[in-house]
Amino acid sequence: MSAVESSRLPVATPREVRRAVLELLVREKRTVALVCVLHLAAAAAGAALPVMLGRVVDGIGDGWDTARVDAVCLALFGCVAAQMTLVRLGRRLGHRFGDRSSARIREQALERVLRLPMRTVERAGTGDLSTRTTGDVDTVAGLLRSTGPEVVAAVIEVLVVVAAAFFVDPLLALLLAVVLPPLLLAARAYVRRARPAFLAERAALSDLTEALTASATGARTVAAHRLEERRAAVGHRLAEERYVRQRRIIGLESWFLPTLDLAYTLPVSAILCAGGLAALGGGASAGAVVACAMLAYRLSGPLDRIMYALTEFQEAAAALARVEGVGAVEPEARTARTAGSDVALRRVTFGYGAAPDILHGLDLRVRPGERLAVVGPSGAGKSTVAWLIAGIERPRGGTVSIGGVPSADVAPEDLRRTVVLVTQEHHVFAASLRDNLALARDDADDEALLDVLRRVGATWFEDLPDGLDTVLGEGHHPLALAQTQQLALARVLLADPDVVILDEATVGLDTRSAGAAEAALATALAGRTLITITHRLQAAQAADRIAVVEKGRVTELGSHTELVASRGTYAALWETWSGGRVRRRQE
Ligand code: ADP
Repeated sequence: MSAVESSRLPVATPREVRRAVLELLVREKRTVALVCVLHLAAAAAGAALPVMLGRVVDGIGDGWDTARVDAVCLALFGCVAAQMTLVRLGRRLGHRFGDRSSARIREQALERVLRLPMRTVERAGTGDLSTRTTGDVDTVAGLLRSTGPEVVAAVIEVLVVVAAAFFVDPLLALLLAVVLPPLLLAARAYVRRARPAFLAERAALSDLTEALTASATGARTVAAHRLEERRAAVGHRLAEERYVRQRRIIGLESWFLPTLDLAYTLPVSAILCAGGLAALGGGASAGAVVACAMLAYRLSGPLDRIMYALTEFQEAAAALARVEGVGAVEPEARTARTAGSDVALRRVTFGYGAAPDILHGLDLRVRPGERLAVVGPSGAGKSTVAWLIAGIERPRGGTVSIGGVPSADVAPEDLRRTVVLVTQEHHVFAASLRDNLALARDDADDEALLDVLRRVGATWFEDLPDGLDTVLGEGHHPLALAQTQQLALARVLLADPDVVILDEATVGLDTRSAGAAEAALATALAGRTLITITHRLQAAQAADRIAVVEKGRVTELGSHTELVASRGTYAALWETWSGGRVRRRQE
């Protein structure tokens, strides 16, 4: 199954993840190289300490005078100061690399999401997309910013310490390797168990949080239905589950951490014992033993940092695989240009994902400038028809064309100019009213913006504290549902496309406002095609033609008068609706 067909977004392979990491490093190769050089120099200055102390031990045995010992000690201070400064610089530069790389990943993630085909977004669901662009990106960014550069520094330090030990005494240096077997075994066992344990603990925590929040936010319902004990029991059970999972992590750490400590002492003890014996037998100098033992001791710091970062690296790799996966979705090759605004659906069959067909050979033609109302029972496929015309979905069989070309092939900028679909879902961006409107046309001046607001009856804008500059959205100036719908209609007027599809777009407005908004739109869009999916038969009555959609087919098509005369489904709907209206008036 191709990525587009599957409802879940793809996940990048380990190879693709490695390539992505490599790309990040190559992009910042200068900074990366400088960070490595700084840490290399810092590690060399640090490793010089035990080496020089070893020399002092041997020197004292060889009869060095105090002035010489003092000079070496002074050099030692110099090394400590140099190490501190270089580490600081290296860290700062490492953070800068992390900041820039994570900013790039964030931007790239956003760009990729924006480039996703609409139907992929619809099918993936906002949950998967938003975790990938927030939580997953944060995990990767966290690693790039702090743990990543720290581990690089730690690896460099380990290498330098080992090299210094070989420089001092190659045979003793070989003993450093005794740290490896327990370390590798412990790491293998820990990583294998830690990841599922951490994931399970996180899952348990989110279950618990969700249950507690649900109980708290639904407190009234809980009280009304006397559900207190049941909700408390759910809370207890989930808290218990989390406790068990936390204990598992503590259990894992309780053997992992002491094993690490033990592993670090092994090379020190081995060097002291074997080196001590060798020194007594004249095979090694006392200074070399001291230096190598101190170097072995120095290994524990960086090794510890590497071990601790193992699970974080695994998590970040998994997160990066999900972030990169978004980029694996093939962008659609939409390059066709429309010639005109004729809308034609011929023998269209369609179903969502792997589900069976819901449109069964639907035929419909809408002439340029025509006002078509689409009515029919809920679930008949009306919105699906709108999605197909707007080029969001592609038919399984038959053709859906606009301006003579398949609507799903029309180039995005052309499609935007040709067709606009307005549904009940209107998004208000946390931005000024001006920016919210300018989405539809960024070259519109204030006069044009105010004009469209007036035309859709959005007189409320006159009361806004900062006029067009008022920031809208949650936490700022929230809009009522009806207001967001007017905003959406105002955007349509600004965009001024050839074809407008209103899918129950005025459902949140009261009957009078809905009628007024639709009438305003009809006037404003004179000469344009207007397809209105509606359950308000008054709107249908005003249309040039009405299409009745039932069970995925157009079952009736004609003007209001024709359909009422034909005594079919529409006539029955009209009778019920107008009868109800008469009754409502009489009441
Ligand atoms: P209408 O607009 O006439 O109410 P729709 O076109 O919304 O009908 O829905 C037609 C059928 O397709 C319904 O059975 C609905 O459950 C199903 N459907 C609609 N949208 C989706 C979707 N995104 N994924 C899966 N099934 C869907």
